[in-house]
Amino acid sequence: MAGAFRPMSFCSSTSHHGLNTAWDGDLFNNRRNSSISLEDIAPLSFNKDVTQAILHATNDVNAMPELPDVETFKRYVDRTSLHRRISGVDVRSAYVLKGVSMDELARRLKGCRFESSRRHGKHLFVRTDGDFWLRLHFGMTGSLRYFKHEQRTPRHTRVLFVFANGHRLAVEDQRKFGEVGLLKDVDEFLKKRALGRDALDISLPQFKEIFGKHRGAVKTILLNQKLIAGIGNIYADEILFRARIHPATQVSALKEKTVAKLFRAARDILKKAIDAKADMDRMPKSWLLPRRGKGRKCPRCGRELKSTTIGGRTAWFCAQCQKRAH
Ligand SMILES: [Zn+2]
Repeated sequence: MAGAFRPMSFCSSTSHHGLNTAWDGDLFNNRRNSSISLEDIAPLSFNKDVTQAILHATNDVNAMPELPDVETFKRYVDRTSLHRRISGVDVRSAYVLKGVSMDELARRLKGCRFESSRRHGKHLFVRTDGDFWLRLHFGMTGSLRYFKHEQRTPRHTRVLFVFANGHRLAVEDQRKFGEVGLLKDVDEFLKKRALGRDALDISLPQFKEIFGKHRGAVKTILLNQKLIAGIGNIYADEILFRARIHPATQVSALKEKTVAKLFRAARDILKKAIDAKADMDRMPKSWLLPRRGKGRKCPRCGRELKSTTIGGRTAWFCAQCQKRAH
């Protein structure tokens, strides 16, 4: 849709794409188990995976979508929802809408198509052929589901996009900390939010510069979205475990080669997590992630893992493998 700026961005209802593959996204097992509610899993509590889900739901309330999850959502949207005419927008909870009303969202998107997507940190932006972008942030429990039959609509659906091919894309979010909005300019939004570079887009010199300029615990720096965007509580712990750095280590105590090691660990962990579709059950056994929790053992040395609070978040680590002195 080159050229033609339309202030109200009403899209044409005539189809110009024919990608109507019958693909049911219910097969897509994208999330860590953190999004499962206890009510949902109670009848199956003897199942090993479900037990792990209970552990996550109770011991680690900080398990929220991070860069690998959002990248997985991006690829999911790309695979399922592009180039299809949107025939309806059903907002079931206006609470998640930010800067746009229910009516405006529906009015502006109806008749449009999603054309491409872009991720920055934990934010996902989906470009429409109507001169604006749909903005999605997944908060604590947000997720996407593409499916065909109405009766399969997820219980915690907040916004539902209905496509002309009869399929639907649900933005589900049990705890409603997620955000759905509309934007004209993604770069302007990133600037306004003062977000740092994406964790997979940052270079080693830029990474070193951040660690050279700032003070505080290493984990706090990794979590600061204004410095590096995309890393949250779970993956910060995993990255520090890989780099063998204690999460409370002061940045000023890190040698340059340790910062470089941290950089490599971040890239490697995030890429591997994306390869595993951010699914905890597909993570390597040598990782901390499947073992976070009281009484669980370090996959490297077998000692019991410890936890502490850093910047208001629970950090899991191995006191034997992760040292403060570097
Ligand atoms: Zn250990």
